[in-house]
Amino acid sequence: MTTWEPGREVDAIVVGGGLAGLAATRRLAANGLSVALVEKRERLGGSSAMSGGWFALSGTAVQRRMGVEDTDEIFVADMIETGGGFADEELLLRLVERQAHAIAEIDRAAAWTDELKVSAGMTVARAHLIRIRELLGFLEHEAVADGAVILPSRAADGLVWDAGRVVGIRSALGDLHARAGIVLTSGGFSRSPELLELFVPHQAAAMPYGGIGNTGDGLRMAWALGAGLADIGHVAGTYGQHADTGDDEHELLTANYLGAILVNARGERFTDESESYKVLGSAVLGQPERMAHQVFDSVVRARSKPGVPLSDMERIEELGHLVSAPTLAALEHELGIPGGQLERTVGQYNESVSGRRDDRFGRTGLVNGVGTLVPIETAPFYAYPAVTAMTSTFGGLKVVPDTSVVRMDGTRIDGLYAAGEVVGGFHGASYMTGTALTKALVFGIEAADTVTRG
Ligand SMILES: Cc1cc2nc3c(=O)[nH]c(=O)nc-3n(C[C@H](O)[C@H](O)[C@H](O)COP(=O)(O)OP(=O)(O)OC[C@H]3O[C@@H](n4cnc5c(N)ncnc54)[C@H](O)[C@@H]3O)c2cc1C
Repeated sequence: MTTWEPGREVDAIVVGGGLAGLAATRRLAANGLSVALVEKRERLGGSSAMSGGWFALSGTAVQRRMGVEDTDEIFVADMIETGGGFADEELLLRLVERQAHAIAEIDRAAAWTDELKVSAGMTVARAHLIRIRELLGFLEHEAVADGAVILPSRAADGLVWDAGRVVGIRSALGDLHARAGIVLTSGGFSRSPELLELFVPHQAAAMPYGGIGNTGDGLRMAWALGAGLADIGHVAGTYGQHADTGDDEHELLTANYLGAILVNARGERFTDESESYKVLGSAVLGQPERMAHQVFDSVVRARSKPGVPLSDMERIEELGHLVSAPTLAALEHELGIPGGQLERTVGQYNESVSGRRDDRFGRTGLVNGVGTLVPIETAPFYAYPAVTAMTSTFGGLKVVPDTSVVRMDGTRIDGLYAAGEVVGGFHGASYMTGTALTKALVFGIEAADTVTRG
């Protein structure tokens, strides 16, 4: 099958061609099943292709080489802590248990880099930078080589239910049937103002972002069959990108994790800047003009890593979004902050860094309490004006660890599986950097193995 053939039956259908969908498709094909991947956009990739490429993984060769001690137990404990105790522990245990499958795919794709860092929600360096586009390209290539059929510009509009199970998808182009299962990997709902307003009205002012196709289609389709939901009310935007960021530009910066402070449009600090960027995202939505400047000096500027998402200040300077000035007074003027306030704020912060007073917001480290704070005192000075963007929606369908979609009472919807951002339960109230991509890869593979087992 190389084109859409209405009425045609395959073993499995995968809905959505981001990381979770490509991982599932490649594995299904490798397991010997006939599989069709339908993607509603003309290009595969979704949010995965736009992402920073950070994966949270524990016990890796990169960590060992860098002398970082990490275990599956610490990884799970950090996720539970970050999620405020709301995450589903069984899902987290399956995630760490099966991360070896993800690591093996990254190995095969030769997509590792040596970049490793502590990021939001971590107590040790666990965020691994992976060449995400290479990984996606590898999975697609291998899937096609094993006989998978990839059908872009084909949206699934609904699920076909027959004799007590899901047996296919509906589409404007005609129905397509599957003998073994349907895997929903259609991403989140960051591009659906309607669903954001419904589930998290307090976040509705966040800048819409993420894959253009991520309008919650899979959620709605499964919901229509009675699927349960998890973590949905906790969905929150990510703080840290310019209000003019283009759809194809990865512009997130977390200079605060390198030593910057956040000040609002009045030049005042308002939070502990070492918190997860999801927590910061909610805090920034409550500030005047719903924005905050990341303010830092030349010492922090020198920590920039060109080409490394979240730490690349060169790219932001090239885009004309970094403001600089020789003095704090001049920076304050450039930013339109009322006279003297920025200097006062930085002065107070520097006193707490030097230990002369306690920090008003309890900040004790660069990120998640880890890392030594530095004073902001060495000219020139910089500011990155940034807003909260709805990059991903980490709540979604309720699943059990084998990826079966379940109703609120825990019963399975036979024939229906889900993986990636369309799924909830892993993050709870907040989010650790890199867990969205890890979850997509690990559970895309897991869904394929579950469908294969039948
Ligand atoms: C700027 C940015 C940076 C990020 N950085 C990171 C990071 O560094 N680390 C991390 O862990 N997470 C990061 N994330 C989040 C992460 O990228 C996503 O959560 C993850 O990629 C989701 O993968 P997925 O396969 O579930 O969905 P996606 O990659 O979004 O793929 C879903 C696909 O399904 C398609 N689709 C939707 N509806 C239908 C339909 N009805 N029929 C057919 N196809 C459909 C979509 O068009 C899309 O192609 C980032 C997100 C953004 C936007």
